[in-house]
Amino acid sequence: MNRKVRVRFAPSPTGPLHIGGVRTALYNYLFARQNGGDMILRIEDTDQTRFVPGAEAYIIEALDWLGIKFDEGVHLGGNYGPYRQSDRKPMYRQYADQLIRDGWAYYAFDTPEALDAKRKEFEAQKRTFQYDCTTRGEMENSLSLPADEVQRRLVGGDHYVVRFKFPDNLDITVHDLIRGDVTMNSRLLDDKVLFKSDGMPTYHLANIVDDHLMEVSHVIRGEEWLPSAPLHVMLYRAFGWEDTMPQFAHLPLLLKPEGNGKLSKRDGDRLGFPVFPLDWHDPKSGELSSGYRERGYLPEAVVNMLALLGWNPGTEQEILSMDDLIQQFSVEHISKSGAKFNVEKAKWFNHEYLQMRSDEEIASWFDPILRQHGINAEHDYVVKVCGMMKERISFVSELWEQTSYFFVAPTDYDPAAIKKRWKPGMTTHMAKVIEILNTVPFEYDAIHRALLDDYIVGNGLNMGQVMNSLRLAVVGKTVGPDMLTLVMTIGKEETIRRVQRAIDTIGEVAE
Ligand code: GLU
Repeated sequence: MNRKVRVRFAPSPTGPLHIGGVRTALYNYLFARQNGGDMILRIEDTDQTRFVPGAEAYIIEALDWLGIKFDEGVHLGGNYGPYRQSDRKPMYRQYADQLIRDGWAYYAFDTPEALDAKRKEFEAQKRTFQYDCTTRGEMENSLSLPADEVQRRLVGGDHYVVRFKFPDNLDITVHDLIRGDVTMNSRLLDDKVLFKSDGMPTYHLANIVDDHLMEVSHVIRGEEWLPSAPLHVMLYRAFGWEDTMPQFAHLPLLLKPEGNGKLSKRDGDRLGFPVFPLDWHDPKSGELSSGYRERGYLPEAVVNMLALLGWNPGTEQEILSMDDLIQQFSVEHISKSGAKFNVEKAKWFNHEYLQMRSDEEIASWFDPILRQHGINAEHDYVVKVCGMMKERISFVSELWEQTSYFFVAPTDYDPAAIKKRWKPGMTTHMAKVIEILNTVPFEYDAIHRALLDDYIVGNGLNMGQVMNSLRLAVVGKTVGPDMLTLVMTIGKEETIRRVQRAIDTIGEVAE
C-alpha cells in the first residue's frame, strides 16, 4: 500500500534531550524530507511522576537550533492534534474499554503491596515474578475474580489498572527495517499496564492509539524500544489496525567512547564533552549540564557528526550538509550495532564547519570575547585576523589564545626562544629591520626584497635565526602565521614599537 510518509518524534519531557534522542529526531527528519513526508512532534507526558518543567521548551529550542524542522506538533498545531498526550487524555479510555470488551485486556486490582509480596514470594524460590499468562490466575483481576465481584469493585471505585492479555505461547514477529524479522514468544512478555483508573493511559496504549490516529507510517526510534515492539504489534492486531500498522526501525545505541555500554551523562562529565544539545539547568537540583551550543559547536557540525553515528552514506564522504543528508539518507545503511561516540571527531567536524563560515561572521562572535579582554579593535581588523587564523581553531573560544598578540604587544618573551634564537648581533639585525621598515615602502614584496633577499641572504645570515628573532620581538614566542603577513597586518608603527622594545628589553647577548 502506498501511503504518505508520516513520522513522529515522540519524546517524554523528563529532562534535557540526550544527543541519542537528537539523533532519533534527525533520522526521522531526514526520512520525512527525503520522502516528501510529514514530521510530527508529539509530547509523551503520560507519566506525570517523571514530568520536568521546562523540558518540553528545551526540546523544541534544541531541535530548532539544529535545523530539525517539524510540519505539525505541540508548538505548531496541525490537523491531528492535540499533540501533547496529557491534552489528549479523554480520548484514550474508549480504546482501553474496546480492548477489554474484545477480550484483549482485563482489569487488575492488585495493590502495590500485594504485587510486592508476590515478587518476594517468587524471589524466595529463586524465581522472577512476571505478571503474565502463567501467573495472572493467582492475582486479583477480572479474569480470576467472579464477575459480580469485579463489578462491585469497579462501581465501588477501587483502584485498578488495565493490563494487556497476551495469548499463551504465541510467537510474535516484528518486522524491523534495520534488523529484519525479530520474533519473541508471548511467554517471555508480561501483561503490560495500558491504562490506570485515574484515566491516564500508559506510554504503550497512548503511543499506539496516537500513531494510529495521527496516521504515522514509520516508527523510527531507539533500540531500547525493541523489547516493547511485540506488544505494540499485538495492540495493532487487537484493535484491528494491522493493515495500517507503521513500519518499524529501531536505531542502534550510542555507545561510550570506549565502546562498552550506552553513552550516559556521566561519560560526558567524566570525559569533558556535552551529551546534551543545549545547556540545561536542572530545575530541582540547580545543576548545570553543558550543551553543544554553549560549548561553541555549530549546529551543522553536530548534525553531521550525529548523522554518521550509526549511519553511513556508503561512500568515503564525511562532510555532509543537511541537504546532502536528506538526499543520501537510507534506512538500509543504518548499522545494526551500536555506534561509538568520538569526541575528537566531533571537534574535527566543528573545525571543518567553522572554516566554511565567513570571516565576518566569526569576527562577530569574536568581538564580545575581545571586549571581555578589554580590547576595542576596529571591526575590519578583527575580520582580517579571523580570516588569517581560523584555520588553526576548532572553536571560536580558542581564538583569543591564538591571536592575542594581534591586539596586545608582548610584555615578556619566551626564555627558551631567547636562548635558542636571540644570538649575538641580533640587536643590530633588529635595528636593521626598523631601518628597512622606516625607509622601504610598506608593502609585502618591497619588504621581502629588502629584508629577506638583500639583507639576510645578501649578507649570508641565518634566515631562521633572524626571522624567528623578529617573531619573538613581535609575538613574544615562536608561533604565528607567516612573519611578513603578520607585520603587514599589525602595521608599520606597531611593528617598529615592538622590535624596539625587544632590543631594549632583551638587549645584546654574549657568545
Ligand atoms: N516517549 C518515548 C520516548 O521517550 C517514545 C518512544 C517511541 O518513539 O515510540 O522515547
